[in-house]
Amino acid sequence: MSNVADTKLYDILGVAPGASENDLKKAYRKLAKEYHPDKNPNAGDKFKEISFAYEVLSNPEKRELYDRYGEQGLREGSGGSGMDDIFSHIFGGGLFGFMGGQSRSRNGRRRGEDMMHPLKVSLEDLYNGKTTKLQLSKNVLCSSCNGQGGKTGAVQKCSACRGRGVRVMIRQLAPGMVQQMQSVCSDCNGEGEVINEKDRCKKCEGKKVVKEVKIIEVHVDKGMKHGQRITFSGEADQAPGVEPGDIVLVLQEKEHEVFQRDGNDLHMTHRIGLVEALCGFQFTFKHLDARQIVVKYPPGKVIEPGSVRVVRGEGMPQYRNPFEKGDLFIKFDVIFPENNWINPDKLTELEDLLPSRPEAPAVSGETEEVDLQEFDNTRGSSGGQRREAYNDSSDDESSHHGPGVQCAHQ
Ligand SMILES: [Zn+2]
Ligand SMILES: [Zn+2]
Repeated sequence: MSNVADTKLYDILGVAPGASENDLKKAYRKLAKEYHPDKNPNAGDKFKEISFAYEVLSNPEKRELYDRYGEQGLREGSGGSGMDDIFSHIFGGGLFGFMGGQSRSRNGRRRGEDMMHPLKVSLEDLYNGKTTKLQLSKNVLCSSCNGQGGKTGAVQKCSACRGRGVRVMIRQLAPGMVQQMQSVCSDCNGEGEVINEKDRCKKCEGKKVVKEVKIIEVHVDKGMKHGQRITFSGEADQAPGVEPGDIVLVLQEKEHEVFQRDGNDLHMTHRIGLVEALCGFQFTFKHLDARQIVVKYPPGKVIEPGSVRVVRGEGMPQYRNPFEKGDLFIKFDVIFPENNWINPDKLTELEDLLPSRPEAPAVSGETEEVDLQEFDNTRGSSGGQRREAYNDSSDDESSHHGPGVQCAHQ
């Protein structure tokens, strides 16, 4: 609900709503001189307001809209001429808020939406680089009617909505008070223009655009990352009077069997036996560019279970600098022998070879011997009752991590 008598624009120019064209011009010139940014650099907004008010009121069509429907009339009557900022400055709210997902380009032309597509790539692709072809279906301006929908002159302004695409219904609630509602014009489906059926372009049936299958060549460069975007500027759907948006491909890195990526570094896990951990080893693996890499670790050097070693320069290539590479980190899982893997007699021989044990501390007084049992870390401690008993003691948090049991830190 709004009052029809919106006089804000007249107020800005300091004239009465019925002012003649001449009076408007005079008022505008005087104010424009006074508030011109050259003279009055701090009055930029005021100058814009004055210019906007004059732009509307000096145009008979716009002035009529404004006089009859106020601010709302201008919102609907404006096809988009880059005055959103000043409009919201004067009236609050955006002029083009109702246009939905469209954004505006720098030159003020309406800009179509970007088309986003995920593009799945393997770690190999990102290591080696890859050129791939993508087939996309998009709207292009009809070539046979140049995006007009019919012969020149066949396109007519819709008379039902006077080319605005929306119709404003006015309902009087009380003298001076009206309610206005807007709806999309049904004669032109909101297009603002109509074409007689016989004059319609045969190729696009008056739609102005046709579907076209387009093949784009995508270059995935060495070292590109998950989430990185490859943009094809202005390649999205075309529409008349609209600057096409971009096609944007978003890289989706697939999981790799062997390697995990962390920036330019790679991580892998390798399993070795106890003998390798103690006596040195050699193994090979296939890198992302299919090279067979030989890793040697000399006798005399020891690998502790879970420890990490690094191979410098065998990580991912740097984006745009592919001769520089990150590092490769190898974590070692050491597989110990099973219970009773050797005759106990032999153990003394082994013990002679291994570093000697620490001397047992001297024990005095009473002792109690306990039983050390197998414990499966992944399954939690044995026996529910026992676990509950543990829960009561808050001083031992690290001893159990059974399912559903969380350490409460206080
Ligand atoms: Zn056509
Ligand atoms: Zn219409």
